[in-house]
Amino acid sequence: MLNLDTLLLVQVCVTLLTTALLVVAACYTESPPEQRWWAGGNVLACVGLALSNATALPLLLHGVLGYGVVALGLALVLRGLRVHTAADLSWTAVAAIVGVALLVPAWFTLGAPSLRARLCFSGLYFGLLNWLCAAVVARQGVWRVGIVSLGGFVLLGLALVLRGVHMLLHGDPADRGGALVMGLSTLAIPLAQICIAFGLIQMVMWRYAERLRRLSTLDPLTGALNRAGLELQGKRVALRALRAARPLAVIMIDADYFKRINDTHGHPVGDAVLRHLALLLRLELRPQDLLARFGGEEFVLVLDGVDLATALGIAERVRARIAGEVVEDAGVAVRYTASLGVVCSDQHSYDLFRLMAAGDAAMYAAKRAGRNQVAAG
Ligand code: GH3
Ligand code: MG
Ligand code: MG
Repeated sequence: MLNLDTLLLVQVCVTLLTTALLVVAACYTESPPEQRWWAGGNVLACVGLALSNATALPLLLHGVLGYGVVALGLALVLRGLRVHTAADLSWTAVAAIVGVALLVPAWFTLGAPSLRARLCFSGLYFGLLNWLCAAVVARQGVWRVGIVSLGGFVLLGLALVLRGVHMLLHGDPADRGGALVMGLSTLAIPLAQICIAFGLIQMVMWRYAERLRRLSTLDPLTGALNRAGLELQGKRVALRALRAARPLAVIMIDADYFKRINDTHGHPVGDAVLRHLALLLRLELRPQDLLARFGGEEFVLVLDGVDLATALGIAERVRARIAGEVVEDAGVAVRYTASLGVVCSDQHSYDLFRLMAAGDAAMYAAKRAGRNQVAAG
């Protein structure tokens, strides 16, 4: 029903389609560089495969150059994966990968001619290169992102190594065992190629989604959550504290006379003060807490499992630290202070926005009392 020729035809079609998919994905002007390496690598691998199967061409072309071009394609895919994980693959390494794929087949074409040896080498070598790709994906560590392409590279490597090992042990692709190995590997290769193409695109999509999430929920100046981020995560934190019957404290922090800092030293120094303030506040954060920039120079700390007395202690520690530090930027040294309003769910409710409104009122009471103070609400 499914003869080898049909499977080979499917393999060729899938190779061309997955390559086209990667090329189209890379054509988007904003696409990251790794997508171009993956697309280019796949195109070259296709060309190399076509060359090495075109036995009508001169021996040097199909018996040697074809393998080199496939290896170059795989090396570029590997380079793309390294670039994706913020590393690199030097051109010397690429040249070495290609060099081996040219020299060994050249020896088995010109020195000691053997088709069996060439097929054995190509199966083992290209299988190994695919496993190298799998190792790079695995090392990035985020399993749910890389698992599809990782599976694809492992499977492709397995299919190729299986062919290589069979060639090494038996040598005749036409015997019964050979037909089974060829059939299984020809079935596995298109499956692996689909996994690799979709997996690579999924890895880039995940990067985009992550970047979008950061852009939409984080304040670019301080790295704290912005209002949208606070709304998203605040509800979750408040609900978690309510369910566990833990107190939830909110501390509102506003830099004093911040406009004066801007007016006296300029906006860049004002920005440095804001970054400094966010850095100090982050020191108080545990994994279950939140820090958000609520307005221009106003921040909010949401502390899970912290009662009013403890929150007041934290706020006082923060206030004293702010008042005691000097911010240096562009040759200017600036001191600043902040006013803090502290509230807790024990006195109010678990409604985060009500808590913040009460915290804001407390913070303004601290301002009215002379600034550089902590007030409870
Ligand atoms: P108060 O003690 O009453 O809080 O006085 P203030 O000067 O700190 O408060 P005011 O609301 O009058 O001024 C806030 C200033 O914060 C005005 C605005 O230009 C500045 N600001 C808002 N966002 C940014 C920012 O991202 N960078 C800088 N450098 N300044 C900002
Ligand atoms: Mg202020
Ligand atoms: Mg303010």
